[in-house]
Amino acid sequence: MTRAGLAGSTVSIVTGAARRPSGYSQDVDWSLFGCARKGHVTYAPDEPALRDRLMAPTAGGTAWRCLRCGAFVIGGEHGSGPAAEAPMVRRGKELRSELILRVFAVERFLRFLVFGGAAYGVWRFKYDRAGIQQAYNNALPAIRDLYRDLGFDVNHSKLLGLIQHAFTLNSRVLTYLAIGLAVYALIELVECVGLWLGKRWGEYFAMVATSIFLPYEIYDLTLKITWLRLTAFVINLLLVIYLVWTKRLFGVRGGKRAYEARLRSESIIEVEQAALAAASASQAPGRSRQDHAAPGKTGPGDSPAPA
Ligand SMILES: [Zn+2]
Repeated sequence: MTRAGLAGSTVSIVTGAARRPSGYSQDVDWSLFGCARKGHVTYAPDEPALRDRLMAPTAGGTAWRCLRCGAFVIGGEHGSGPAAEAPMVRRGKELRSELILRVFAVERFLRFLVFGGAAYGVWRFKYDRAGIQQAYNNALPAIRDLYRDLGFDVNHSKLLGLIQHAFTLNSRVLTYLAIGLAVYALIELVECVGLWLGKRWGEYFAMVATSIFLPYEIYDLTLKITWLRLTAFVINLLLVIYLVWTKRLFGVRGGKRAYEARLRSESIIEVEQAALAAASASQAPGRSRQDHAAPGKTGPGDSPAPA
């Protein structure tokens, strides 16, 4: 590529970025990824000037600007109405955040399965202790042989010790244990749903419920450090910090108002409105019509660059 060619492509990238909210260029893949998964979101606002900026007549039909990835796509608009009622679509970093929370949601679902299964096992055990003990006693010689073949002493097995201890627990303790495990499993399930849907209540619920168990997890680690405990603790701690910081829970970093203001400032409609206001303020009335007809081009007063 020639030097002139390089310079030319750079100019076009900068021009494109100037129309977009800050941080757009580094997050462009997330918006494209979101559109690949969910399809483009286009909207025809009632305001004629704004409408002109979001559409472009092409040979194949009218192209509308996607509110998520910013590309002009051909096809009928999905919705129309006042600009204020345009759908709020998650873009850039927000899409990345959505994906991160879904990874946490999957982890919570695995916890739900493990603890739900444990609750069910304890409950079954409570009602069929004799049968299970019988089966255990029958299997014990085979388990003993297996341990010996593997080179372990069965008397030192923690798992078998735990099972034998369980046979000594009374029915009431088993009931409490089953209820405790079931409640914890349900909490994990609610967290999973809330994080997966990306709802504010879900973020609050996950943050509060996870925090409640942190002191116990720290206490548990002071007794003995195992990889399982340490991993579970680190995951929970990261989730709490991530939620409070990025979702601005409990008024952190301006709270909900600041969070929504940032979402709005990143929306394509808001950016175009700001650009329109800037353009009409700085340009002579006679020239503005010409500018609106070419939404792909950028005027001098066209870079609002919200911080
Ligand atoms: Zn799109």
